[in-house]
Amino acid sequence: MTEMRTLKVALLGCGNVGAQVARILIEDADALAARTGARLQLSGIAVRNVNSRRDVDLPQELFTTDAETLVKDADLVIELMGGIEPARTLILSALRNGACVVTGNKALLAQDGPTLYEEADKAHVQLSYEAAVAGAIPILRPIRDSLSGDRITRVLGIVNGTTNYILDQMDSTGAQFADALAEAQRLGYAEADPTADIEGHDAAAKAAILASLSFHTRFALENVHCEGITSVSAADIAAAKDAGFVIKLLAIAEKLSDAEGGEGVSVRVHPTLLPREHPLAAVRGAFNAVFIEAENAGELMFYGQGAGGTPTASAVLGDLVSAARRLVLGGPGRTETTTGHVPALPIDAAVTSYYIGLDVADEPGVLARIAQLFAEHGVSIEIMRQTIHRDAESNVESAELRIVTHRASEAALAATVEAVKGLDVINSVTSVLRVEGV
Ligand code: NAP
Repeated sequence: MTEMRTLKVALLGCGNVGAQVARILIEDADALAARTGARLQLSGIAVRNVNSRRDVDLPQELFTTDAETLVKDADLVIELMGGIEPARTLILSALRNGACVVTGNKALLAQDGPTLYEEADKAHVQLSYEAAVAGAIPILRPIRDSLSGDRITRVLGIVNGTTNYILDQMDSTGAQFADALAEAQRLGYAEADPTADIEGHDAAAKAAILASLSFHTRFALENVHCEGITSVSAADIAAAKDAGFVIKLLAIAEKLSDAEGGEGVSVRVHPTLLPREHPLAAVRGAFNAVFIEAENAGELMFYGQGAGGTPTASAVLGDLVSAARRLVLGGPGRTETTTGHVPALPIDAAVTSYYIGLDVADEPGVLARIAQLFAEHGVSIEIMRQTIHRDAESNVESAELRIVTHRASEAALAATVEAVKGLDVINSVTSVLRVEGV
């Protein structure tokens, strides 16, 4: 019987995810060898401090602070340090040495992905990053491989657990944003500095990756229009709920055609109203889900844990086994195809429905004037509801008007809202939010 080959695996980082990856590599060594056709030998773990306490009991002799030397001698490198440097330099050096690389580093991929992908192509090795989007959920390989014979038309993703938890809390308890954020921080769902999550930057990095794989074109972070959830108020949530919607922070990538038959892709992250019966509306707490529409497959949804050491380690191990199998069989496999060449569209070109909240004077003829103004701007109204309020002190009556439009371009909507603001019967525009799934 021929001896089974051994592949050396270098692990960079031993935090939340890295420690679980190391544990699984050691505990499941026999099963992984059987699936791979080679023994995956953990040759070392690079960290900042070799004496730090770890979540998992691991052999002390594996730890080193010399990541460069560890990488030089590896067949497979797993980067789970996070951040830009030294992760970037170490990944490039691993690829140049002919090692396949697995990473979960969405921040690095969003900032400098193309350099890494090109280096991997040049070296004929595999660079995989399933863990970078939606943690445990297998989403990148289904897009890249399983759907490679189809045409994806739209991707809607809840890809940030922190913001989903906050919006879900606001929806279920009526809490204000600041209180829901404080609760998320108390429970460990949000970091002490939550900026990357609540401003949508983390979701935008994932949107760029999802759009690139779905539309076979490299989209960078600057192609992603990004709005976070900091301005979503309890009143917005309550009004949406009243009208049968839930507000979610969505990462959206969709193909759009213009009147002349030109095509482009709109990639964006923003708070979005979804009908409560939409499958994504049922994604509660810190869970993630990605909803895909494809020409032939129709609608697909992928749901699961978007973060956490052990769930994310599952995605990393999947990539590792896939890369190891290719090393055993020979050949690099393709990391991605970039033959789509579709342009990224500016946010003005996005086409969606809108929810608009207006505080208006309670006078006869107001509704007709507003409806006419919408029609003049080519934005048609699907639902219009009015609620009357009386100010207890002044005894003055005002009306709250909630409008849901049919699909319209961002530019047409912006012009309509500007014109509405100019009407003397309008006290204020209280909210303008995009709606999907109607
Ligand atoms: P983490 O808990 O902060 O762990 C980072 C590890 O990297 C630590 O072991 C640290 O060493 C080591 N490290 C950092 N800088 C280093 C340096 N300059 N040299 C050597 N070692 C260094 O991070 P994590 O939560 O496991 O996340 C790792 C990666 O996975 C990130 O890119 C993250 O975005 C991605 N990811 C994480 C999750 C999740 O749920 N956590 C989900 C999806 C993707 P010390 O231990 O000595 O400090």
